[in-house]
Amino acid sequence: MENKATLRVELLSSTKDLDIIAYAGKLCYSKTTISDLKKKLVQSEIDLFVEKLTDLGHLSPLEHVSFTFGIEGISRAATHQLVRHRIASYSQQSQRYVKQDQFNYVIPSDVLKNEKALEVFLTQMKQIQRSYKEITTNLMDGYIYDYLTKTLDTKDIINESKYLHKTLKEMNKRKYNELEKVAIENARYVFPNACETKIIVTMNARALLNFFNERCCVRAQKEIREVAYKMLMLVKKEAPAIFKKAGPKCFGLGYCPENDMKDSECHKITHKQLLDLIKTNV
Ligand SMILES: Cc1cc2nc3c(=O)[nH]c(=O)nc-3n(C[C@H](O)[C@H](O)[C@H](O)COP(=O)(O)OP(=O)(O)OC[C@H]3O[C@@H](n4cnc5c(N)ncnc54)[C@H](O)[C@@H]3O)c2cc1C
Repeated sequence: MENKATLRVELLSSTKDLDIIAYAGKLCYSKTTISDLKKKLVQSEIDLFVEKLTDLGHLSPLEHVSFTFGIEGISRAATHQLVRHRIASYSQQSQRYVKQDQFNYVIPSDVLKNEKALEVFLTQMKQIQRSYKEITTNLMDGYIYDYLTKTLDTKDIINESKYLHKTLKEMNKRKYNELEKVAIENARYVFPNACETKIIVTMNARALLNFFNERCCVRAQKEIREVAYKMLMLVKKEAPAIFKKAGPKCFGLGYCPENDMKDSECHKITHKQLLDLIKTNV
């Protein structure tokens, strides 16, 4: 399983400046100037003030700090769920510009555990890799031939893949690269949801709390839940005052707001359970 992708989540940067959150929060309730607020800020009280703001649900001050994650070894299926979170910035590896003859893929844990399902899965991945390569080559052959017939005498063109590629590469490398981009952007339509991708995500703290509410919940699919747990673990270390009560909705509320769904898996989660869940998923 040389092409099996492994999830990696890294905190690339953060503006975890709690002072900013405190100025922004205090400004709302104060007559004083911003410089006076800065002078009056008692460092030892900042953590508690930030916690108080999150408890009150006064969350707009949290939008002034943000966290940037690098995520690799994630499937396109999961990044499609991730990018539904609109209050964020994303940069994702392009399937139009990056040729991926031997693309890596994410294997869902249930498929990994089931020998027969795994065999079908791996066969399919290999087939798609072959198809992607063949479609790219066939399209390129056609594009190059069409281009060469416009610039050279037809009798000088040997309509064979190897020759066509060599001729255009030597003649006009830029045109070759341009045509290859068109070929791979068409060939990528055969890629599966399992295809591995890489993405950089920046979210402000408020958007992150909402993200954890939704994606740490047992109702979220396992892969994005694993991503969310890893992100949560990282920000809990980075800015504990902001993320002390972060997690699925039930964790902050103390009850499940969707209890009527009678999901047997669902539970009112305790702090210890959440930490255990994170540990077992990271
Ligand atoms: C378990 C689960 C199952 C799901 N199933 C489906 C599904 O079957 N089909 C599907 O399409 N999606 C599904 N989703 C995606 C879900 O509906 C949201 O689109 C996604 O989780 C992003 O959440 P969000 O809008 O809160 O986040 P963000 O886009 O980051 O928004 C954050 C918050 O900003 C506010 N906001 C943002 N944009 C607007 C707006 N235009 N108008 C008003 N308020 C706004 C809202 O308060 C929102 O909660 C599912 C999500 C989960 C967790």
